[in-house]
Amino acid sequence: MEKADVIIIGAGISGLTVARQLCRAGKKVLILEARPRVGGRIYTFTRSGLMLEGGAEFIHGDLPATFEMLREYDLSPQPIGGEMISVYHGKVQEQDDFVEHRELLMRHLAGLKEDMTVTAFLDQHFPDEPYAVFKDHIRKFVEGYDSADAARASAFALRDELSEPEGDQYRIEGGYGALLDSILFELRTKDAEVLLSTIVKEIHWSDGKVKVTDASGKTHHARQVAVSVPLGVLMDQEGPAAISFRPRPEAHLAAVQGMGWGRVIKVLVKCKPDLWRDAAIKKRLGGSLDSLGFIFSDASMPTWWTHYPGRDEVLTGWLGGPPSAQLRTADDETLTHLALSALGYLLGMTHQEVEAGIEFAEVFNWNADPFALGAYAYKTLKTEEALHVLQLPLLDTLYFAGEAFYAGPQMGTVEAAISNAQDVAERMLHSGR
Ligand SMILES: Cc1cc2nc3c(=O)[nH]c(=O)nc-3n(C[C@H](O)[C@H](O)[C@H](O)COP(=O)(O)OP(=O)(O)OC[C@H]3O[C@@H](n4cnc5c(N)ncnc54)[C@H](O)[C@@H]3O)c2cc1C
Repeated sequence: MEKADVIIIGAGISGLTVARQLCRAGKKVLILEARPRVGGRIYTFTRSGLMLEGGAEFIHGDLPATFEMLREYDLSPQPIGGEMISVYHGKVQEQDDFVEHRELLMRHLAGLKEDMTVTAFLDQHFPDEPYAVFKDHIRKFVEGYDSADAARASAFALRDELSEPEGDQYRIEGGYGALLDSILFELRTKDAEVLLSTIVKEIHWSDGKVKVTDASGKTHHARQVAVSVPLGVLMDQEGPAAISFRPRPEAHLAAVQGMGWGRVIKVLVKCKPDLWRDAAIKKRLGGSLDSLGFIFSDASMPTWWTHYPGRDEVLTGWLGGPPSAQLRTADDETLTHLALSALGYLLGMTHQEVEAGIEFAEVFNWNADPFALGAYAYKTLKTEEALHVLQLPLLDTLYFAGEAFYAGPQMGTVEAAISNAQDVAERMLHSGR
């Protein structure tokens, strides 16, 4: 491509959304993506004829930016559901909410005058022994749902998150991959160029002038650049995806370090029909795996879900927060073993019985993925201040985009990424460059 108007670094949903909006306004766009595929933390793939999500999977409510995009491309959100159970100390119980004892928690959160970490809040408000189990549940919720470290996560953010109206949860028919395909199709019709397997190493920028150098030494030129790599990559100054800025945007890079970056390992387990319909499991769970939605537990991999209302015999395990970070360097075999042991505990079976009862397991250790280095952003006590800095473009030339830079209640989601990207694209267009 001859010189682009704008270079976008990263072809995740945020980079693609910025590109889409700029292309619609007639800009010449070049996207540089490190992986051999687009989508970043959205990764829809097929195995044994099943459509599976290695990254983002759900739409957490009736979210405006996501729903609008689905409408535009004629894609359908499919409500999910299913029963929820909890398994603590081996005991199976029905659970009717993602958060146990929500009312008690909200009563205390509502009275908070000053922000503090979730750990400090729990210790101050629930100091006594009878609350130990309750505190453990809340910490697990923060680690599981937000992939966050409760010792750094903001209690105000937890309050705001739980105050949001609890809409339905959805999956997309055709998966999040169908959304990526639709955007890519549109970008191709508008002559946007997407270079895959192109790791950006350096960005030289000055007023209205950008030179980007990739790992092969090739340079790319434009008037503006939008950096939409994950927060984890910006935080890490030395990994294979680290980007050198010349000059360094010191205030922005310092602000990044104050934010919260979650960790997650996701394991997909395809069960054999025999295991799925096992009478002993049905008895233990008080219902069949067919009608089960979610399991919350004290297992080593604590959160599990099915593809309900789909019936494809897939169970997904989720380990978020610090326990997941500790396993960053564990290999797939170790993580599969951990997942199957957790399943054995939940289903009342030995590890060997579970192993014999499955067809395959796919491990996604996002913490070890060099182009993600973790899950998604969560709010710390410094996030608000950091976002004031990070949302400011530099000389109308260097912009940051992505889920982490969104300031609303849906932080860490695809909605956050789309919404922030739309704002960034608008600002780029209004800059007059
Ligand atoms: C396991 C998991 C499950 C999730 N589940 C959900 C869910 O159910 N619902 C939900 O709403 N959200 C979910 N999320 C969060 C959601 O996936 C993200 O918020 C969203 O996809 C982020 O999009 P993004 O474009 O900001 O970042 P990314 O998708 O990470 O895109 C950034 C891109 O930059 C590229 N890149 C990195 N470094 C370089 C470099 N040096 N040069 C060039 N390119 C580079 C990366 O390869 C990547 O493609 C989940 C995330 C994970 C990890």
